[in-house]
Amino acid sequence: MPKSAIAMIAHDRTKPDLAAWVGRNLAHLQGRLIYATGTTGRLLKHAYPELEIHPLKSGPLGGDQQVGALIAEGRIACVIFLQDPMTPQPHDVDVKALVRLATLYEIPLACNQSTADYLVASPYFSKPELAPEILSLEERYEAYLQRLNTTLESS
Ligand code: PGA
Repeated sequence: MPKSAIAMIAHDRTKPDLAAWVGRNLAHLQGRLIYATGTTGRLLKHAYPELEIHPLKSGPLGGDQQVGALIAEGRIACVIFLQDPMTPQPHDVDVKALVRLATLYEIPLACNQSTADYLVASPYFSKPELAPEILSLEERYEAYLQRLNTTLESS
């Protein structure tokens, strides 16, 4: 399965920033499949009908968890998630889970515009893959997987 899609999420107060960021980076985003949480996705789709944007559920209704599931399925190359650090979010635990999965799967995650700028400037943005020095998930968690196998074998 190709790990080429980009996930986009923006908290309410950062949605205009994400829309502007997408506008500045259209050349990098053309032809890429973009998943976005519901409200963010609909806003971006309206603003940039030329992009291939698939809105998921709204974040507070499970959209961030859907992005996490796509990461676990190996379908997401990177996440642009413009967070609002000044406003409490009702689905904070979902956001935490998403950040954990991105960390676990070595998925680049930009939480602000500056980091998103670094992401698009990287050669890995157009050719998503792990740097050769980074071990695969299986290699990094081999001991954990072995423990699971041992448990299963002894049950
Ligand atoms: P939304 O969700 O795009 O549906 O507003 C964003 C979020 O997770 O806060």
